[in-house]
Formats: sequence, C-alpha cells, structure tokens
Amino acid sequence: MDYISTPDVKTLLEIQKTDFQYGLYIDEIASIPEKIKRAEEELRKAETVRQTFADSLKKIQLSQREAELKVAETENLIEKYQLQIHSVKDNAAYQTMLRQIDNAKTRKDELETSALVLLEDIEKALEEDSRAKQTLEECVKKKEETVAALEKRKQQLEAYAALEKQKKIQLCTKITSREIFDRYEALRTKKKRIIFVVRDVAGGRLSCPCCNMSVTSSTSGLLKKADTFAVCPECAAWLCLESMVL
Ligand SMILES: [Zn+2]
Repeated sequence: MDYISTPDVKTLLEIQKTDFQYGLYIDEIASIPEKIKRAEEELRKAETVRQTFADSLKKIQLSQREAELKVAETENLIEKYQLQIHSVKDNAAYQTMLRQIDNAKTRKDELETSALVLLEDIEKALEEDSRAKQTLEECVKKKEETVAALEKRKQQLEAYAALEKQKKIQLCTKITSREIFDRYEALRTKKKRIIFVVRDVAGGRLSCPCCNMSVTSSTSGLLKKADTFAVCPECAAWLCLESMVL
C-alpha cells in the first residue's frame, strides 16, 4: 500500500470540501440557461396553441360572413325574379321563372341553415380561444416567475461560489507542501473527490468509502499514522481515518 506523507491532511480535506461545494454551485449555475430555455419553450408551445385557436376562429367567422352575404345575394335574386315574373307573358317562361324562384328559395334556406350552424361554431371557437388565451396568460406569468426565480438563484449561487473560492484561498495559505497540493489539484480535474474519510466505528471493519474494498492490516496501520494519507490500492483514493481528522 502506497501512502502520502504530508502535514496538510486536514487542510487538504477542508480544501476538497470547498472545491466540492464550489463545483456543485458551478454545476447548478451552468444548468440555469437550459432551465430558462425550457420555460421559454413551454411559453412558445402555449403561443402556438393560442394562435391555432385564433386562426380557426377567424376562419369560421369569415365563412359565416360569406354565408350571410350569399343569403343576402339570394334574397336579392328572389326579389329580382319576383319583379320579372310580372312582365312574363308566355306560360312556359312563367313556369320556368316560378321554378327558378323555388330553387332560389331552397338555396336561401340551405344557406341560412349553414350560416346558423356557423354561428354555433363561432360560439364554440370563441370559448376555446378564450380558454387558450387564459392558458397563454398563465404561461406568460409562470415563465416570468420562473425566469425571475432562476436569475435570483443564479446571483445567489455566484455569491456562494465566490465565498467558497475565498475560503479556498484562505486554506491554501496553510498549505506547507506545494507538491502534494499540486498532485491533489491535478487529480481534482479528473475526479470530484480524491480524499475519502474512512469511518472507524469500534470493532467495525475498515473499508475504502470510494470503492468499498476492505482495508488490510498494513493499510490500517498507515491510516493510524499521523500526517499520512493511505492510498487505496484498488481505486487510488487518498484515505484518512475519521478519528484522526475530526
Ligand atoms: Zn478504494
């Protein structure tokens, strides 16, 4: 079993705590733009839904106006025929005109029915549009609240991260072995934790908290030595004993 002899065991452990905490803050800060993007996407979805309902309403309203217009046109046509029929002398022509008037009346009834159906459709579409509008308004509010909360959280995290950084600078002034510290820093870029504290409950079995390997008696001896990290042969974690660093 390899070991690292350094009087900075406790300081390095403290530094790792601040590094770890700093990493958590930085990770959370990095996740914020994605969360804002998701809130914006939700809003865009609600906007699209609202637009679909608004478009559909407009389309029905247009069809309804067209139907009303056709009703009026047909009414005019009937009036025109009814005026013309008085000047018709020939019986066959008279019969033809009567049929034309009947046809126009039937057409007018059909158009009026479809205009009425469209009026009912407009009512339904108005309700749907109003619901979609309300949903959209709620989404706008929710998005604004979410973004404001995230921005506030970001500021908070930046302040916390700055504090951890400050703490680390303070701790670094206590470092006596630059070489061990540099080794720690180099490893830290690859792993989030390098130092692990082995719990030593009375009569309990000692094991590496990183890989769960049982600690041998020689390692156990190293763990009980002051100013020493025992290096786990399995996972290369720097181990120290809880009762030694408390
Ligand atoms: Zn291990």
